Amino acid sequence: CAQVDYIRHNIRTVADWPSQGVQFRDITPLLSNPRVFRVLIDEFVHRYFDERPDLIAGLDARGFIIGSVLAYELNIGFVPIRKKGKLPYATVEESYELEYGSATVEVHTDAVKPGHRVVLIDDLIATGGTMMAGKRLVERLGGVIIEGAAIVDLPELGGSNKLRAAGLPLYTLVDFS
Ligand code: IMP
Repeated sequence: CAQVDYIRHNIRTVADWPSQGVQFRDITPLLSNPRVFRVLIDEFVHRYFDERPDLIAGLDARGFIIGSVLAYELNIGFVPIRKKGKLPYATVEESYELEYGSATVEVHTDAVKPGHRVVLIDDLIATGGTMMAGKRLVERLGGVIIEGAAIVDLPELGGSNKLRAAGLPLYTLVDFS
């Protein structure tokens, strides 16, 4: 549709960043243009307006930018799922494998209450490791995930298939192959 095409055309592809052979999908042009930023956020607002989740949980760091604005628009709470070592209070953590090494994300233990209905959000799904770790964290605290949301899916990397197979419905706006 027109909105999704407008969003797609405002995502910048940067070749060979952060390493040779990678085509990095840069969403910052969606943020700096106020018209496209509003179209972007409105896509997610319309998706969740009737569903009325209790919380938006955003993944570090670009999930914070869109997730917090979305939560504000829906008049619901926002929870940051952060890279390890940034949250001051008691946390639970989950680690996952990267191409080289591993990563750990964490969330405050009181950020999600049992039965809370949560939408997880990030800018992009690649291998799905980050979103999967977020799902596990929310579920460990008793939260119920409505679905995972992202601006971009890279389906050829298999992450979105893996997440759906693991029982996480997904809503993404733009695919790049
Ligand atoms: P995954 O865990 O492999 O699915 O990687 C997704 C995470 O890495 C997200 O938090 C993204 O912000 C980041 N990421 C990976 N590739 C890209 C890209 O091409 N553009 C923007 N972010 C990316």
